[in-house]
Amino acid sequence: MDAEVLIIGAGPAGLAVAGALVQRGVTPLVIEQADAVASSWRNHYERLHLHTVKSHSALPGVPFPSSYPRYVPRQALVDYLADYAQRHRIEPRLGEEAAAIARIDGGWQVATRAGMRYTARRVVLATGANCEPRVPAIAGRAGYRGRVLHSRDYRNAAPFIGQRVLVVGMGNTGAEIALDLVEQGVQAALSVRSPVNIVHRDVLGRPTQLTSILLAKLPAAWGDAIATMFRKLTVGDLSPWGLQTAAVSPLRQLREHGKTPVIDVGTLARIKRGEIKVHPGIDRFTPDGLRFVDGSEQAFDAVILATGYAPTLQRLFPGLALTLDRHGAPADVIGQGASAGLCFVGFDIRQPGGVLRTIHAQALRVADALAQPSADRSRPRQTTATT
Ligand SMILES: Cc1cc2nc3c(=O)[nH]c(=O)nc-3n(C[C@H](O)[C@H](O)[C@H](O)COP(=O)(O)OP(=O)(O)OC[C@H]3O[C@@H](n4cnc5c(N)ncnc54)[C@H](O)[C@@H]3O)c2cc1C
Repeated sequence: MDAEVLIIGAGPAGLAVAGALVQRGVTPLVIEQADAVASSWRNHYERLHLHTVKSHSALPGVPFPSSYPRYVPRQALVDYLADYAQRHRIEPRLGEEAAAIARIDGGWQVATRAGMRYTARRVVLATGANCEPRVPAIAGRAGYRGRVLHSRDYRNAAPFIGQRVLVVGMGNTGAEIALDLVEQGVQAALSVRSPVNIVHRDVLGRPTQLTSILLAKLPAAWGDAIATMFRKLTVGDLSPWGLQTAAVSPLRQLREHGKTPVIDVGTLARIKRGEIKVHPGIDRFTPDGLRFVDGSEQAFDAVILATGYAPTLQRLFPGLALTLDRHGAPADVIGQGASAGLCFVGFDIRQPGGVLRTIHAQALRVADALAQPSADRSRPRQTTATT
């Protein structure tokens, strides 16, 4: 059959693989469900900056411009990604959502929702670990008179001026949205049900990301002990403000649970000043607000669910049970056995130093594998569905 490389998704991971392939003389076909590259970053909340330093966040072969700050702002990242695509002449077929992928003789067939079918010898899945919002079922929601939205739909504080807003969940997104709200004068609170691991983004001018990369190179027990001591010295006990600290080190939490520590960019100071109140977990909605598990109740005009995302990869393979780890991420970057010919980039969120750094490394590995001389480099075949 035709030898082809088809990449699904034109976010950082898909562009990184496509760029690395072009740098090796291979032209892949890229399909993307949205109407532009980097769609997730176009839609994130406006104040977002990368939490990872630019030297560890760029795609293969193209460093960020020297004029960019150490922590790249969202729009500048979008511009960089669009430029990266243009430079490598990556022109994804936009509005093409892969709906089902099945093995065919010697390769894979990808059916899109719009009715196209692509056959490819190798398919790179780069559809992102943050695809589907996770929305917890909270009792009493139907009777609540306020507005409820997922953090994915939050852009800025403007619609919430003059309101009382509860942000549910204190991952990086929840912490930063609460900060964004109070910076604009909105009365914001957080609901935090579990112990958290919080680190400052920089300590004495040094990015904590770089420290975590170094510590991850030590034997795990040493790295964990030093990371815990570092957290104790720099962040300390937060229980007076309603925050319990995780029993495990930030490194271990990332490694074993795929949970990135909260990289603080100012939320903690606001909590300590009493500007962001921390509530425990939620028991249920009341008509005007929420009741928390400690029995307290408070009125809120809006509730923002910063409750993360669920993995959706398996759904694309109705006829194949992917080998996934307990977090729902593919066990291998380069598929083996029944998944041979598939590559998975951007799903391992447990490596120290950030997902973009992982994407960079995985993209190089996948591009090296796909650019082997044996690979047939013709363009994918594309047909219109007949059924
Ligand atoms: C708020 C936020 C902040 C982050 N900050 C950092 C940071 O500072 N540093 C860091 O290293 N990492 C960060 N990350 C993590 C990670 O780097 C980003 O999520 C990054 O965008 C991942 O790139 P990706 O290409 O894997 O996924 P995405 O950016 O989600 O791109 C996936 C693309 O695939 C497309 N797609 C999905 N399904 C289909 C389909 N079925 N058919 C066709 N197209 C499809 C989507 O439309 C999208 O364009 C952050 C994540 C979030 C959510």
